[in-house]
Amino acid sequence: MKTKTVALAVAMAVLVLPLLARRSGPAPGGNTMSEGVYGFTMKANDGKYICVIEGAIPVKEDGNFCRIADKTALELTKEIGGRAAAIIAIGSCASWGGVPSASPNPTGAVGVHEVLRNKPIVNIPGCPANPYNLLGTVLQFATFGTLPALDDKGRPKFAYARVIHDDCPRRPHFDAGRFVQRYGDDGARQGWCLYKIGCKGPKTPNNCSLLSYVDTVGAWPIGVGAQCFGCSEKGIGFTAPLFSTIDVQGPTPPAMFTPIDPQSGTISPVATGVAGLVGGALVGAGLAYGAKLSKVDSAEEAHEEKKS
Ligand code: SF4
Repeated sequence: MKTKTVALAVAMAVLVLPLLARRSGPAPGGNTMSEGVYGFTMKANDGKYICVIEGAIPVKEDGNFCRIADKTALELTKEIGGRAAAIIAIGSCASWGGVPSASPNPTGAVGVHEVLRNKPIVNIPGCPANPYNLLGTVLQFATFGTLPALDDKGRPKFAYARVIHDDCPRRPHFDAGRFVQRYGDDGARQGWCLYKIGCKGPKTPNNCSLLSYVDTVGAWPIGVGAQCFGCSEKGIGFTAPLFSTIDVQGPTPPAMFTPIDPQSGTISPVATGVAGLVGGALVGAGLAYGAKLSKVDSAEEAHEEKKS
């Protein structure tokens, strides 16, 4: 099966399950939603299925800020997630609360890991998350029965081991000190680094710069000239001011170094020739001055000899 077909199948499964939960209602002969289609499916695959959750879980007011049919999202997360082999929390909201958890967080929105504490949970943050990161995780489980190696925030290392800044196509401009100062200026038109207008790439682990969204190269914020606002990183996305700059601490080397172009200091043949001429002129002047000095010295010596 081609990759795109698999991606479509997974995307449909992700879409269909919530739909069943919302629309199925009680099955014939059942009294509640959990006795309907999804309840039957869940029981038939008890402890063997992957539960993919999208969206934050509101926990204030007994979770009543989000009700789906006859249950709260809080109850459904515990019920369906509690019987799964593992959970995938897709998107920043499910991973750590995302935009609904921004201060003052009136609904008490939290990520899945704060509701289900004894389950393997894979967080795939992003707003939106890259579907290929979901696909890679699901296919590993389907093929090998294992989950990918995770970092200390439960994210797959294959996607979140490096910050965006490490592999950003604008990184050579950062290293060369060429920055966009405001939208639409000359630097913006030439694709320079967006750090000075608030890019959070240096503190945001994600593979956006390496793995195109929807197979379209450049279809991501930095690709279209907008600074990364750290949507996938707790404490930055939806928290740090959009245009404020951040500290760059211990920058790791980029994966590759691009060639140095003339703007960043290549010495052109013309410049070399000019330098040669200048150098030659200086050397020549030095020799002439030296010869002049030696003549003066000789004249002075002859004068001294005459006196003695
Ligand atoms: S600061 Fe942002 S735009 Fe500049 S190199 Fe880093 S990630 Fe790319």
